[in-house]
Amino acid sequence: SGIFGAYSAVKKTVLEEVYLGLYALQHRGQESAGISWIQDGSVASKRGLGLLHNAIDQKRLADGEAYNAIGHVRYVPLESSRLQNVLPISANYARGPIAIAHDGLITNLAELTRQLEQRGAIFQSSTNSEAILHMMAQKSHMQPIDALVDALRRIEGSYALAVLLENSLVAARDPYGFKPLVLGEREGTYYVASESCALDIVGATLLRDVEPGEIVVVNGKGVKSLRVRPEEKCRRLMHCSFEYVYTARPDSIIDGRSVYEARKEMGRRLARKSPCPGADLVAGMPDSGTIAAIGYAQASKTPFEMAVVRNRYVGRTFIQPTQKVRELGVKIKLNPIEALFKGKKAAIVDDSIVRGTTAERIVSMIRSCGAEEVHLRIASPPVLHPCRYGIDTRKENTLAAVRMTLDELCRKVGADSLDYLSEEDLTAAVGLPEEKLCTACFSGKYLEDEEK
Ligand code: 5GP
Ligand code: SF4
Ligand code: MG
Repeated sequence: SGIFGAYSAVKKTVLEEVYLGLYALQHRGQESAGISWIQDGSVASKRGLGLLHNAIDQKRLADGEAYNAIGHVRYVPLESSRLQNVLPISANYARGPIAIAHDGLITNLAELTRQLEQRGAIFQSSTNSEAILHMMAQKSHMQPIDALVDALRRIEGSYALAVLLENSLVAARDPYGFKPLVLGEREGTYYVASESCALDIVGATLLRDVEPGEIVVVNGKGVKSLRVRPEEKCRRLMHCSFEYVYTARPDSIIDGRSVYEARKEMGRRLARKSPCPGADLVAGMPDSGTIAAIGYAQASKTPFEMAVVRNRYVGRTFIQPTQKVRELGVKIKLNPIEALFKGKKAAIVDDSIVRGTTAERIVSMIRSCGAEEVHLRIASPPVLHPCRYGIDTRKENTLAAVRMTLDELCRKVGADSLDYLSEEDLTAAVGLPEEKLCTACFSGKYLEDEEK
């Protein structure tokens, strides 16, 4: 999911900027969108299903006035995309107005929900944010900020949060830093965003990443920093490596590393590990594989071609609910140019294989163009494990690399050869120390096991 928040200390209206910020984060979630703001001392919201422009009327929002607002674009499998689950969740509770937008997955949610329900909480949705809201409401003897810190201490798993309070905007990142979150500023207005590309659109300067375990409070007095737990306990970090592989936009800088540069380096390293001698061209699977393909082509001194064209108006294939629609989806989305492939030996680069559907369809389409040889190169290691921290669409028994050996998968997708990036190369390409990166979906090294 994607989150964005703005607080204007100089009392400029920020509603349209929040809209634009979310627009730049649309790639992080297409299921629903919502914006909440403070108006006359209480919280107001606009929410809807689907893409941002379907969910919220930009014109009407631009007419509104608020100098403190947050927004959310949601990424979840379809079965739970009821309107009640559209974030931000908002309420006016004993301590005033509040709204919460969350990216991530609280791993002890079931336990927390049970405790809250035993104390009388009635849940309206199945969102992680609502649990945080109830935890705060049950501590209404505390100031909202203190109640939030208290709630965050009880949460396990991943979160990047934007919390709207009457006179402040709060941003928080889990102690492991799974999810990205940045802080920006422009002429007295402060912004928090999942990715820096959303700061660019409002002309804000990237001040810094919100630190793992940090709670940033922005209000009329300026910017204050609190901690979820003592800093010395935050040695092991788990920045999601998949952000650099696929999730984030290439024009973002996450934890100091350019996503574009990381992706290109993955391609270069892949070319060194698994060259494709004598290839006539290198093509990427757009958009997610394009940058790695450029790196692969440069390192192997082979011409790069935009030989597979993508229909810009089709969203990310994954959000289609059924296997059948998903399979069709690839064909609707991607089309190879016959003249470029006919009689040629081609290296095709994609960012990852999950179920193997995309790879199988594209290789067969390229073969139909009369390609002589099709060699598939994947710019990340095999996805062998489900993600426990927020990418919840992957079931272990659907993962292609779990169900088949490399040779079987190569045959299944119909390629002449198939190879992946190594874990070492992935870590090196991201450029962060190994002890700061989560690679669990590739390596199986989950946080829970490492902490034992
Ligand atoms: P497959 O077709 O193998 O199931 O999925 C692989 C394709 O989906 C790749 O081209 C990759 O760009 C994209 N992809 C990989 N992981 C994810 C994910 O977690 N969510 C979404 N929406 N797409 C993904
Ligand atoms: Fe990211 Fe994979 Fe770790 Fe999930 S398991 S947080 S997708 S690296
Ligand atoms: Mg893709």
